[in-house]
Parts: sequence; C-alpha cells; structure tokens
Amino acid sequence: MSYPQATTGFKLYDFRSDTVTKPTPGMVAAMAAAQVGDDVWGDDPSVNRLQAVAAERLGFEAGLFAPSGTQSNLIGLLTHCQRGDEYLVGQEAHTYRYEGGGAAVLGSIQPQPLENADDGSIPLDKLRKAVKPIDPHFARTRLLALENTIGGKVLPASYVQAATDWAHSIGLATHLDGARLCNAAVQRGLALSDMARGFDSVSICLSKGLGAPVGSLLLGSRDFITKAKRWRKMLGGGMRQAGFLAAAGLYALDHHVERLADDHRNAARLAEGLAALPGLTVTPPHTNIVFVDVDEKIATDFSSHLAKHGVLISGRDQQRWVTHLDVDADAVEATLRIAQAYFEGR
Ligand SMILES: *Cc1c(COP(=O)(O)O)cnc(C)c1O
Repeated sequence: MSYPQATTGFKLYDFRSDTVTKPTPGMVAAMAAAQVGDDVWGDDPSVNRLQAVAAERLGFEAGLFAPSGTQSNLIGLLTHCQRGDEYLVGQEAHTYRYEGGGAAVLGSIQPQPLENADDGSIPLDKLRKAVKPIDPHFARTRLLALENTIGGKVLPASYVQAATDWAHSIGLATHLDGARLCNAAVQRGLALSDMARGFDSVSICLSKGLGAPVGSLLLGSRDFITKAKRWRKMLGGGMRQAGFLAAAGLYALDHHVERLADDHRNAARLAEGLAALPGLTVTPPHTNIVFVDVDEKIATDFSSHLAKHGVLISGRDQQRWVTHLDVDADAVEATLRIAQAYFEGR
C-alpha cells in the first residue's frame, strides 16, 4: 500500500516536535488490516490487544487507550483524586503547565506546583514541606505526579525510587506522565517496566517519538482502569472502531521503540554541530530534545534564515529542536549545513 508522504520531492526538515511524524507505509498497512469492533462495548480486538500488550510491557494489570496524552493524564488525575484533593507536581510539568488547568477546571483538583530542580526532579524536602496537615483549612494532599522524560531529561533512577517510596510511605498515590517514557527507557538501556516501577499509574504517548498518528495509554491496576474507563467515557474519549488507531500503536510498540536510539544519536549530532556555531548556546541532550539559546542580536534573523530554507523549529531566542522518525542522519547534516551557511554569509 502506498502512502503520500508530504515531504516527497521537497526537502523540509521539521524539528518543531516529534508529534509531526506521518505514519510509515508499514504502519498504514497494519492500520488498513486491523480487526475492529465497537470499543465502547469492549468489542474492539485491536484496542484490547494494544491495552494488554502495553500493560504487560510496563508491568501493570490493565491499560486504557485514550485519544491524547492530555486526556490520559487527566483521566489518571480524576481517578486518583476527588474534588478538594490536591496533587504535588512540578512547575515545568505538562500535567500542571500545559494541559489548560484541566485537573482544576474539570476535576476540582488543586495542583500544588513546586519548582523543578535542574535535573527535572522535585527535591524531596520541597515535597515533604508541601504536604498539608489533615485539617479543614487545607486541600487533601493525595497524589505525587512526576514526568519522565521531562524537558527531554531522564529523571535519575535513584530519585524516582526515593520519591515514590516516600509518597507511598505517607499514603500518597503516584502517577507518571511518561509521554516520552520509551525515550527514557532506551536512553537508560532498561525495560519499560523498570522505568514504570514505583508508580500506581503511568500515561504514555504513542503519537510522539513512536510515530503513531493518534493515541495514548493509561496503565494501572485492574480496579484503577475500571474506574478510569468511566472518566474516559465522561470526557468524550470513548471511541468506536478505534482499532484502526490501536493497530498503529501496536505497530509502533513493536517497531519504533528500539529505533529511538537513532533519534538520540541524531539529537547529539545536531547539538554538537550547532554548538560549534557562534552565538548559539546548546544544552547537551539526554534524549531527542535539544535546547538552544540564541544571542538576541541574531535570534530573529537566524530563525527566519532557517525557515526560509525549510528548517522548522519551535522558539526563536530559546529554541527547541526535536528529532524523530521523519528526520534521519542525512536530514541532520543538511540542516547543519543550512545553519552554518547563515554564519558564513554574514
Ligand atoms: C505531549 C505531552 C503530553 C500530552 O500529549 P497530547 O497527546 O499532546 O495531549 C503530556 N505530557 C508530556 C510530557 C508531553 O510531552
């Protein structure tokens, strides 16, 4: 089966996000061949298989397919917390900063944001101080929500263990926003189940580095997922013949996890090449996200040079470059030549 690739014959290097990937021909073929049913009735064999495979790989009893990572995180928060509860979360965390305040707006769940340290962790002493006494003045502290990778950084394993042990020791539940947990696992050379250890629930995205067009998964205990399914329906996330999308997710889990190492290599090469250019300050990447601070004097001009030559990035003076399935090593070299040309032409 052929699939029209938007990039054919036109060199466009899109580093804005790893969400921009198009399904590969193999993925499209898997989607076209999917067995489907009505998933609201629990009848879709492809969705059921995806949920079972993901639960097994991450070491949980059950899984739930959701249309987006924002929704699977929200379902997780709604399932853990009641109205008037609070969750401890990083200032930089997606579940606090980038989800429209959904937990507060839709769940009456209070976030307690805390400053992230440079390594992406929330220091334990800050967490300890933020827990509220049981007293009618306060919201009930109920949940610790972490994120891995966070800003492309892999959380230290010793931190994850210490923080989740501490949370459980005082009766808090733990949720992991693992939108890019597969990147973290590949970077560490560990199984997904090792990366998920210590968490009562985990959300992963299939539509980022894994290259599926749509979809996320929430993993947890059987009881947790039964409750979560009710919230998914209420939020409008109950989809019918969703097996076409689940087939893409299954294909991604089988074919696109190990290759994330290529994205990490490409990000490292991109970082090395950009760091050699004047006026650019590059943070060496852990995984597939490269942050580049650009001297204010050239920021606008440099960004428009890149855009003019078909290189898309997000940000201007604080740039974010993300590598993925649709930018290979040659694309990185071509991009570095385009970036170099800007400085040679000055
Ligand atoms: C992208 C992302 C999400 C949300 O995923 P969507 O599918 O875009 O809603 C959640 N958490 C993190 C860390 C992400 O990067």
